[in-house]
Amino acid sequence: MKTLIIEIIEPKRLGELVTVSREFCEKPDIVAVGAGQIPGSFAKAYQVEDTVASNLVSDLASLILKEGYEIVLLSASTLGSGIAAPLSIKLSAPVVSEVIGIKPELVVERPLYGGKAVATYKLKKMPAVLTIRRKYFESADLQGFTEPTLLGPGGKKVELIAETEEKAEGIPLEDAEVIVSGGRGVGSAENFSMLQNMADFFNGAVGASRGAVDEGWVPPTQQVGQTGKIVAPSVYFAVGISGASQHLAGIANAKCVVAINKDEDANIFKRARFGVVSDYKKIVPVLIETLKEEA
Ligand SMILES: Cc1cc2nc3c(=O)[nH]c(=O)nc-3n(C[C@H](O)[C@H](O)[C@H](O)COP(=O)(O)OP(=O)(O)OC[C@H]3O[C@@H](n4cnc5c(N)ncnc54)[C@H](O)[C@@H]3O)c2cc1C
Repeated sequence: MKTLIIEIIEPKRLGELVTVSREFCEKPDIVAVGAGQIPGSFAKAYQVEDTVASNLVSDLASLILKEGYEIVLLSASTLGSGIAAPLSIKLSAPVVSEVIGIKPELVVERPLYGGKAVATYKLKKMPAVLTIRRKYFESADLQGFTEPTLLGPGGKKVELIAETEEKAEGIPLEDAEVIVSGGRGVGSAENFSMLQNMADFFNGAVGASRGAVDEGWVPPTQQVGQTGKIVAPSVYFAVGISGASQHLAGIANAKCVVAINKDEDANIFKRARFGVVSDYKKIVPVLIETLKEEA
């Protein structure tokens, strides 16, 4: 099937969509968004430097109609979600967002009810627009580069006047192999320094539940979950986190979840491989001491 990927030029993100595209075709085409070379080997590549979704939709819709694409893949990111909805309206195309599974015969899966259920859909009309949830598909290894032709000039509906980078100290949450996340049970912003100490031992990062973010103890950029970041570390410590489905939606692909919670009935224990029922203030300092001794 004729497949088009629309994505920011970032190898890991592109790689995930390439993996998904293989369910539909051998070699997809791409609209690469942003500046720089396009990694990977695509049948045809287009490039557009403007990264504002509203400015891209018209040109993308014309391209899709002209070339007769049947499947359009974007990631379920700010850009992808921003493009998918207006694009699908312009094309009268079906859209399925936050896809986490692709099955044969154009069947796709997405989570519902904060991750408590999975819905399965069959695509019946082309083109179909899919946004793919990050970290649910392996990122394909992208070899070489593809020369693009420019798309656009496009009409500016919105102008980007500033882009401010998150103040990232240490390793980014999405790249960390070990994440120590805290929830409302951590009790205060100061107490999060204990979790930071623990994360530092593993060269890891500190995450948080929405409970902790709502309390103002950690910035929203550290939130893990359905409306936060999706992470897939080797080890995920959930400290004082109840394990609401919306939080679990962000750690579906974490390999080993370790829960520390004083409530033995907390939902997090259903997801955890290892669980400690205790006040974290007793456990975390002991863990840090042990790590110090081992180091
Ligand atoms: C549309 C929508 C989207 C959402 N998106 C997200 C999201 O992306 N991410 C997210 O996290 N949430 C999200 N939520 C919120 C989610 O439903 C929960 O409210 C939230 O995850 C709860 O955070 P928490 O576990 O930190 O707090 P709580 O549910 O209050 O749990 C605190 C836990 O800490 C334990 N505890 C207390 N003291 C200690 C102690 N001293 N030692 C050990 N354990 C202790 C308690 O037993 C309890 O289990 C969303 C909700 C909605 C409706």
